[in-house]
Amino acid sequence: MKDFYDVHSHIINLSHPDFFSFVKRVNIGEYLFILSIPIIGPLISAFFYASAKKKIINSLSFMDNDISFALSILEKKDILPFFNERLKLENEEYDRIVITPLVIDFGQKYSVSNENIWYNMSPHKAVKYQVIDLFQGISEFYKENKVDKKVLIFPFLGLNPVNYQLEDEYDENGNIKLIGIKSLLDKYFKNFSKENISERKRLLFENMGNFHDIESLGNYAFCGIKLYPPLGFDPWPDDEKEREKVLYIYDYCNKKSIPLTTHIGVGGFQTINENKCKIFSSPLRWREILKMFPDLKVNFAHLNNKTFFKEIIFTVVENKNVYTDLAYSCFSEKEYENLEKRIRKYGLNIYDKLMNKILFGTDFSISLIKVPSYLSLLKNFLNTRAFYGVKNLLVNKNPERFLFSI
Ligand SMILES: [Zn+2]
Repeated sequence: MKDFYDVHSHIINLSHPDFFSFVKRVNIGEYLFILSIPIIGPLISAFFYASAKKKIINSLSFMDNDISFALSILEKKDILPFFNERLKLENEEYDRIVITPLVIDFGQKYSVSNENIWYNMSPHKAVKYQVIDLFQGISEFYKENKVDKKVLIFPFLGLNPVNYQLEDEYDENGNIKLIGIKSLLDKYFKNFSKENISERKRLLFENMGNFHDIESLGNYAFCGIKLYPPLGFDPWPDDEKEREKVLYIYDYCNKKSIPLTTHIGVGGFQTINENKCKIFSSPLRWREILKMFPDLKVNFAHLNNKTFFKEIIFTVVENKNVYTDLAYSCFSEKEYENLEKRIRKYGLNIYDKLMNKILFGTDFSISLIKVPSYLSLLKNFLNTRAFYGVKNLLVNKNPERFLFSI
């Protein structure tokens, strides 16, 4: 079986992100109150609003589904047509697509005070409910037959160390009140090791679709870990206690060869201020970490980045196990060509090295605010003239190495 990988997607519904950062993220604040009112004004703005309105309604219409429905829609409308005839990319033919939905930990208790309203506490959403919904949805999706499905789903665990202590916390009766980072990592990754990494894909596949409750969810439910600086995750915190937590995570992932994906760049679902976000979401924040753990597998997401393009490229090229992805990078065939030109400016040597480190990713369903469908995201990549001769590295070879080898 030959697999085509999309290493960066988010299968979430409208109940998972916190509403205010969601509105900001998909840029719909100003449209929220116009959807039901006829637009008056010059034709150009009417046209602009009509097209924006269509995209917004399309996104919301997809994201308003339960996860299992969302997956069925994706399979029927986007993935099966993609495989209508056997999917051929340059000289390779593909049998299935592997998606790795990245859970984002929205559990942060940040504070935005609004004195004018009664419920003026900042919203708080425990990541637990997103995990339950996702695994319940996956289980429903694979209920009938797993073996013949064209899509495999290997989620990444969203983890923000700020929301946890390192050790478990107990109540007065000695029961665990809050799970700590050490236990959380063991719950999901204890059986992962470098020695058995060749078995990992098979075990993830075997486990895929099995879900009873979050208590019994364990090893081989998740394939890797997602970190998200715009929600307050600092890769290299000054605070001693926070530093201890992240070091524990890096050491753990390094020993077991667990892949990490971290968001690069400002924007996204952002709750911290712009300056802080610029520092936390920069590849340069990883300098010391990569010195300490030169084998750590990290994907610096969003290569086609305004602020950190050069930093991503150099960190990727200089570090053995640092990758980057194409999520939220290109929304048309032409944009892939522009990206390739941008990379080629750094010379052939860098280009060649980079082609062994770029991972295909779509950022679906967030990218629905830019394109009409998952199918169009796949087709843009398939049909672009850019990356000619190396596309199979980006959708297969590199992702397999990032996910399933040391
Ligand atoms: Zn993303």
